[in-house]
Amino acid sequence: MKTGKTHGVIVGLLLQANMLQEKDVLYAERIRAKLTVPAPLLNVLKDLKLITDEAIHATIAGSQLTLRIGDLLFELGYLNADDLQAAFKIQQEREKELKLGDILIKYNFIEEKLFYRILSLQLGFPLIKPEISTIDKQLVAKAPLKILTTNAFLPLKTTEGSTWVAFKDPTDQVAVKAAMHLYGTDIRPAIADRKTLLDTLKLLHNEAAGVVINVDNNSIIGIVNSIILAAINEDASDIHIEPSGDCLHVRFRQDGVLCHYKDFPKEVILALTSRLKIMCKADISEKRRHQGGRILFDYDEGQIDLRVSLYVTIHGENIVLRLLKQKDELLDINKLGLSPRMLHRFLDEAVYQPSGVLMVTGPTGSGKTSTVYSCVKHIKNPQISIITAEEPVEFVIDGIAQCSIDPSIDLTFLETLRHIVRQDPDVIVIGEIRDSLSADMAMQAALTGHKVLTTFHTEDSIGGLIRLLNMDIAPFLVSSTVVSVLAQRLLRRVCTACGVPTKVTPAQLQRLGCTGTDLREGQFKKGRGCTECKQTGYKGRIGVYELLILNELVRDAILAQRTSHEIRSISVEHSGLVTLLEDGIVKAAAGLTTIDEILRCLPKLAPPRPLSELRRLSGE
Ligand SMILES: [Zn+2]
Repeated sequence: MKTGKTHGVIVGLLLQANMLQEKDVLYAERIRAKLTVPAPLLNVLKDLKLITDEAIHATIAGSQLTLRIGDLLFELGYLNADDLQAAFKIQQEREKELKLGDILIKYNFIEEKLFYRILSLQLGFPLIKPEISTIDKQLVAKAPLKILTTNAFLPLKTTEGSTWVAFKDPTDQVAVKAAMHLYGTDIRPAIADRKTLLDTLKLLHNEAAGVVINVDNNSIIGIVNSIILAAINEDASDIHIEPSGDCLHVRFRQDGVLCHYKDFPKEVILALTSRLKIMCKADISEKRRHQGGRILFDYDEGQIDLRVSLYVTIHGENIVLRLLKQKDELLDINKLGLSPRMLHRFLDEAVYQPSGVLMVTGPTGSGKTSTVYSCVKHIKNPQISIITAEEPVEFVIDGIAQCSIDPSIDLTFLETLRHIVRQDPDVIVIGEIRDSLSADMAMQAALTGHKVLTTFHTEDSIGGLIRLLNMDIAPFLVSSTVVSVLAQRLLRRVCTACGVPTKVTPAQLQRLGCTGTDLREGQFKKGRGCTECKQTGYKGRIGVYELLILNELVRDAILAQRTSHEIRSISVEHSGLVTLLEDGIVKAAAGLTTIDEILRCLPKLAPPRPLSELRRLSGE
């Protein structure tokens, strides 16, 4: 006579709960003994209609979960006795930290999907996919993350006094006890597959660490819109969307520095990329070539123009969206942050000059295009004609003819420049000098009496001249057409809410190439970090400039093809040049930026002059 114990745990439970009678079980046993193909007792009971799945589920759910997964799978006929023994042996000998369920999957005793299906369908635990946005974060906060991860469970929400908890394995007694300890005995177990569970825990952990804020809107359109809106609100200049192995990073460039915004699970990568491709009219099926496009994004407070670049990487497509500023955000030339004397000279000897080339130089993101537009805005009037060739138009200004170069339709820079001159303009704005041909055309246009405003990608002002000469532009052309070169950088501004006085350290002095006496009168500041500046100590940016006005001596030096070092000395001694580094020091000494920013961003070509002299030269 067999006892209840040998029927197996489930049959034992069913007997205990009076869902089955002892005689039914004995009858089923007799039937089973006669089967040619062995079948689990439970299946025989079900076939004989002595028990239903519903009854089994209800009984298991109502029990105090004293079931072990190995026994269950054996009872249900998914594992034979030898396999179960082998799995236990592996656990004892090699994999002491692993749960039996993990070993069964890892060593292919059972397929993972089937494992979860059995737990769910046969045992009646609902199989769920946790959604970050619906999880009660307060429940999560009750438990140290390590406990959740080690035991692989995740509290979801509390309804009618009981707490739903998703387990990787709801038959794992250690995990269930840990959950009960945290959330009371009235827990309602559900199953989530191992990967989803651990991924969700990881996202929650990142979120708690401030890495992820919240994936509120699960639709891709919503995610894309929320990213763009957040970038607008945070006054970001660029959005970087970068797939990596296990997630999608989104960062914003703010005040020139990339800041983390959010991480999204990697599942959204494809859909999000496709959505952006549709929005910017790129080829949605193309995944192997770099692409570009443009989005006109409408939102409550207006419309913003986004330039999109898709760059193919080993992890997928990197997407960068540049937010193009609207015309009303253009700076007044008086507020660019040029020192009083520099502004005066820049206007008189460069901007107001009726002809010649005015170049603004600096690396990408140094604000040179904004400066050119501030000049355009300043000189724009109904008596003069201004025409532009840009790749593409970055700012939209009323009353001037702006042309966006689009090489994809064969509207090239050179082609445009050829036509521009025939439009009889007074002022020509060339977005950027990129090669010797566009440089030559800019010079030729200036030679024929036009005023040309342009940008050039070089480190400093003298470097701009030298680079033109290195492009095989005739020295006479450079010396007779270039009126001025303004080099610039944008440095982060010390947060006004938390800025406090600070001293320049000996190491900083050494790196600057000056002495403590040189900077004696300076009132340096640094931000301690507050909520206003997101603990960075910086908020907003300031421009730092180096203005080279080409006077007779500088022109002669160019014609004589002197070295950059010589041209620089002549400019400093005879043209009133204050270098980028020196202008930066004047601004740091006024507490606007920090020495760290100067050392991070500015070229250090020669030791700076003492602060008192620099202040006099700047007219501060
Ligand atoms: Zn602050």
